[in-house]
Amino acid sequence: MILPGSTIGILGGGQLGRMLAMAAAQLGYRCHVYAPEKHSVAGEVSANFTCADWHDRTALAEFARDCQVVTYEFENVPVAPLAVVPPDRLAPGTRALEVAQDRLREKRFVEELGGRAAPYAPVDADDEVQAAIERVGAPGILKTRREGYDGKGQWRIASAHEAGALRVPQAGLVYEGLVRFEAEFSVILVRARDGEVRFWDSPANVHESGILARSSLPAPAVVAEQVPEARRLAQAVAEALGYVGVLTLEFFATQEGPVFNEMAPRVHNSGHWTIEGAVTSQFENHIRAICGLPLGHCATRSTPVEMTNLIGTGAAEAIGALADPGAHLHFYGKAEARKGRKMGHVTKVH
Ligand code: AMP
Repeated sequence: MILPGSTIGILGGGQLGRMLAMAAAQLGYRCHVYAPEKHSVAGEVSANFTCADWHDRTALAEFARDCQVVTYEFENVPVAPLAVVPPDRLAPGTRALEVAQDRLREKRFVEELGGRAAPYAPVDADDEVQAAIERVGAPGILKTRREGYDGKGQWRIASAHEAGALRVPQAGLVYEGLVRFEAEFSVILVRARDGEVRFWDSPANVHESGILARSSLPAPAVVAEQVPEARRLAQAVAEALGYVGVLTLEFFATQEGPVFNEMAPRVHNSGHWTIEGAVTSQFENHIRAICGLPLGHCATRSTPVEMTNLIGTGAAEAIGALADPGAHLHFYGKAEARKGRKMGHVTKVH
């Protein structure tokens, strides 16, 4: 067990790290954030901040020496340099990163555990694009195998000839058939060091331009009916990875049942509502899990609960949300309100 007063290392310096550090502080831990960006909204609320490249093994080793446990808030942390972090100090481990960093590997991994993904075909070279689209059918979405997020690295394809001139990046692409879904939802679980698993209620998620716009509870009946099957898959994924911490799987609720979209080996935007809406938040339970503390209840306090992202919203506009005295504003303190950038979120608990 890692006792309060110890230092928790967080790889990644964004808002997820910030909210993890705040939950850790409540429990009496110090946090040390490691990120390559000069300005880190997680570093700002932590005891220590190392600004260094992901590939700087000297800096990583020094960072790891200062921490009793190291976790991550960003799934694209390069895996090879993490060899300098003692494996028993890293939670979740590197296998979860390896699987989640590659869309193709992730789909195959989930299928082996009995999950169902959208129809797909790998695309490794320019001359494979057409065949992949013909095989899977249009419309669909071409996605980069690596490093895509929030709708970045994705191209919607209406017909095969539209993709004619596309250049395939070195890491390759995956072409996915467009899923006709009734709703989207996520399964968010926490797994403790002793293997105990707890689930939060699954919210319905609405995306706009590939970015999460809103998560709400209770989810419609079509989601509620598919949650048990989706949970079985998420638990199987966690167990197969020997996972410790919060794990998220995103699904499409379709007429044929839940279709796996993607996983995130970390706390997730669709779980932000748990700060005010659940007995224990995803951030607190992640800290408890990686430190070997008992987990807290994940039950929803009351419904409805709604979390709305503030995307590209400046501070002056964001505080407008406080006109509703029942609203909780979380503003991440990012320097610049760029288009498509997650600046904060608002949770309403009724
Ligand atoms: P992703 O980054 O892959 O999670 O995609 C972001 C969002 O784009 C998803 O949450 C969906 O709203 C939409 N999307 C992605 N892939 C598909 C698909 N195969 N079929 C339908 N919608 C999709």
